[in-house]
Amino acid sequence: MVISYRGYRDDPRLKTRSSPEPASNGTWISLNIAVVGAGICGLVAAVALARQNHTITIYEQSDELSEVETGIQIPPNSARLLLKLGLGPYLQNYVTEPQQMSMRRWKSGNVIGYTRMGTELRKQFEAPYWVVHRGDYHKALHDLAVDLGVTIKLGSKVVSYDSAAPSISLEDGQIISADLVIAADGVLSKARKIVLGDADRPPHLTGFAAYHAVVDMDRMREDPEISWLLEKPSLNLWVGDNRHVMSYPLSSDKTFNMVLSHPDNSDGTECGDNSEKHLPDMQEEFAGWDPVLMKIIGLIDSTIKRPLYSGSLTSRLVRGKLIILGDAAHSMLPYMSQGTAMDVEDSVALAQSLSRITAKSQIPLALSIFETVRVERAVQVQEASLLNGKIWHFPDGPVQKARDLAMMPEVKGQSFSHSPNQWSDPTTQMWSYGKGNKSGMV
Ligand SMILES: Cc1cc2nc3c(=O)[nH]c(=O)nc-3n(C[C@H](O)[C@H](O)[C@H](O)COP(=O)(O)OP(=O)(O)OC[C@H]3O[C@@H](n4cnc5c(N)ncnc54)[C@H](O)[C@@H]3O)c2cc1C
Repeated sequence: MVISYRGYRDDPRLKTRSSPEPASNGTWISLNIAVVGAGICGLVAAVALARQNHTITIYEQSDELSEVETGIQIPPNSARLLLKLGLGPYLQNYVTEPQQMSMRRWKSGNVIGYTRMGTELRKQFEAPYWVVHRGDYHKALHDLAVDLGVTIKLGSKVVSYDSAAPSISLEDGQIISADLVIAADGVLSKARKIVLGDADRPPHLTGFAAYHAVVDMDRMREDPEISWLLEKPSLNLWVGDNRHVMSYPLSSDKTFNMVLSHPDNSDGTECGDNSEKHLPDMQEEFAGWDPVLMKIIGLIDSTIKRPLYSGSLTSRLVRGKLIILGDAAHSMLPYMSQGTAMDVEDSVALAQSLSRITAKSQIPLALSIFETVRVERAVQVQEASLLNGKIWHFPDGPVQKARDLAMMPEVKGQSFSHSPNQWSDPTTQMWSYGKGNKSGMV
């Protein structure tokens, strides 16, 4: 279940180049940068660096570009930077801005945590909180990258890296030299081993997997017992013992997006697109949950199951002139919805750091500043994601009751200074979404 869009190789826009902005110090150091991987991270990195007058070529192993057919959340720290990069016109017709998040008790569906989003969050953090179809997000980034003159070479598998030269070798024997190489080659990255050396600990299976599914909203509207969930765009999250379900509407294709996280101690090989097996398993995993949720699950026709990985805490991002970004650098549990947001922050921070150099000899200095700032931020978010999984997944008992009691003020509309709900907690909001969040952004 993947969407794809063909025709990139011959797209005439690949050869055109619109005027980039000058580097922020007014100088025009233009680097030749090779990016490996045209996932969301590779494309964001290309856009951020092309905006700073660098010449970017992306090498992607697949013959066509695609993304998983599911939704993704774009929190304000990410949306603010994407808007600055000029993605607004490419994305605006596809995004939805949820007005609230309701955290619900697994069995009854009763609201136990509540976050006001929409205008309130947008005003506070000077950027919207969006949800969007991954395919639309990926395509918007692709189109902007192409309009900025980025070249995308499909069917170009990188088989080795030289971090000092720097250069990459392709499967067909070509060796490509550049001023910098950025590896955004995903969770199973080959470049990570080169950057981390003996310290490399590949991302490990966490004992959790997620079913991704979408439900046709017209079918939901036919049933008054579930149609009320669509009255205004919202995140609805059901939490229970070791499991949760995150959901939201995707207005661009009129589907209700669901991610159903559950324990899974398999080795990941039986994951993938096998709905015949996964649909009954899903029913069993969530048996006894809120009848409203179970009705929606009953409307799911197909699903993809993906194992959830978490990387070890990031210790470095750079070796020589090779940089790892995105899931290659800091894969994390998706429980703060910040994985791709970190890719966006990384990319802008790297572009900003490089924009301050006036000679190629200063590249190592720029990279070391970038690395110092971004390692600290990535580790914080990796840890927060692990922690949030614990908070969401308490079994019924005294700790769960204490959590729910602590969220009561936000549900009742009373003032509160802290909350176990990471979407509502004022301190977590500030460091996740705020401008002074130590992300390296100025
Ligand atoms: C269930 C789930 C929900 C999530 N929800 C959110 C969310 O709401 N918000 C959020 O911000 N994040 C979320 N994330 C995280 C987010 O999906 C990832 O962080 C992001 O997609 C990673 O993008 P990437 O470009 O680094 O990697 P990938 O998407 O894996 O892209 C890597 C690319 O590199 C290419 N490649 C690999 N090796 C080579 C090679 N040798 N040569 C050439 N090309 C190569 C691949 O073909 C691929 O195109 C979620 C993750 C999961 C699992």
